Amino acid sequence: MSWSQRIEQALAERRLNAAYRRRQTTEGGNGRQIRLGDRLYLNFSGNDYLGLSQDARVIAAWQQGAQRYGVGSGGSGHVTGFCAAHQALEAQLADWLGYPRALLFISGYAANQAVLAALMQKGDRILADRLSHASLLEAAAQSPAELRRFQHNQPQALADLLAKPCEGQRLAVTEGVFSMDGDGAPLAELHRLTRAAGAWLMVDDAHGVGVRGEQGRGSCWQQGVRPELLVATFGKAFGVSGAAVLCDEATAEYLLQFARHLIYSTAMPPAQACALQAALACIREGDELRARLQENIRRFRQGAAPLALTLTDSDTAIQPLLVGDNQRALDLATRLRERGLWVSAIRPPTVPPGGARLRITLTAAHQPQDIDRLLEVLHDVSQ
Ligand SMILES: *Cc1c(COP(=O)(O)O)cnc(C)c1O
Repeated sequence: MSWSQRIEQALAERRLNAAYRRRQTTEGGNGRQIRLGDRLYLNFSGNDYLGLSQDARVIAAWQQGAQRYGVGSGGSGHVTGFCAAHQALEAQLADWLGYPRALLFISGYAANQAVLAALMQKGDRILADRLSHASLLEAAAQSPAELRRFQHNQPQALADLLAKPCEGQRLAVTEGVFSMDGDGAPLAELHRLTRAAGAWLMVDDAHGVGVRGEQGRGSCWQQGVRPELLVATFGKAFGVSGAAVLCDEATAEYLLQFARHLIYSTAMPPAQACALQAALACIREGDELRARLQENIRRFRQGAAPLALTLTDSDTAIQPLLVGDNQRALDLATRLRERGLWVSAIRPPTVPPGGARLRITLTAAHQPQDIDRLLEVLHDVSQ
């Protein structure tokens, strides 16, 4: 098979299963709304849970950072790319989340790949919740360590895997809030099990940090758990992008030696680190934003209960409506768009086969009438 045949065949398969993905060019938005072409939609697809991507304080911090440092870091953090703004942000993150150290990464994807690649060796075992994010499962699959997946949110399934002998080290991997279902992991129970077995726990809290727990410290803080490795990402509630790994002193030093994504890649722009400090300050004093988000979640779930579509067991900003069939999910998303609502249809392989859904996300920026409008249209199109 030639290159072009191989590529055409893969594309044809995607088209056949209504799984073909296309990007949509937007003209910007404000968390609550999104503009495509000359039409303005209510946006129920973003991860900007607190609306901080448009916050005047965060924007000003980025602008001032660019004035002071320029727009790029100029190199890897190991050469000249690590500056005072990065250092201050790392210290603030470590203090906020109660860890000795925080290390910045360019994205959550890179952080997850880097940590697993740097830590795991042949003879080790990764025990991952089945529904963990692609960045975790892919890094685990590529790792020389053995990958075992356990049933979603089932501590007993993890316990069974931990009971099996292993010559090397074991790392259990899960998320604070699962990105496609919106449900939270039983972190206290999982950590109790890993500690008893002498294993480590890694929690990717991309969707929990900023929105859950006191001062937005996330799912772990909320459940009174301090996993050995915590990944916080900044593309969601922080409204920016980037990520940090929280860990102890020795692990941070180890990652600085062996995490290739830190060594062979340009550090995030210092101005972005300035914006992230401002976003962190907004999050720490963001009880009002979090209360507004909670009220939107409550309003949505109450109104969606009578719909013909199934809600998941989620009390977070991620409120999927399960559809099942790919084409039906796409058709529903199209009909919502015709009525001015931007909602994504999520299909396999992002979710398990037969698990196509409308992934509705809510933010503090939504007004009560936005939620009511969404419910009204959902009611009409799902009949
Ligand atoms: C979004 C997300 C990531 C990736 O983070 P980026 O900063 O967007 O690369 C990783 N893990 C989870 C659970 C996510 O939802």
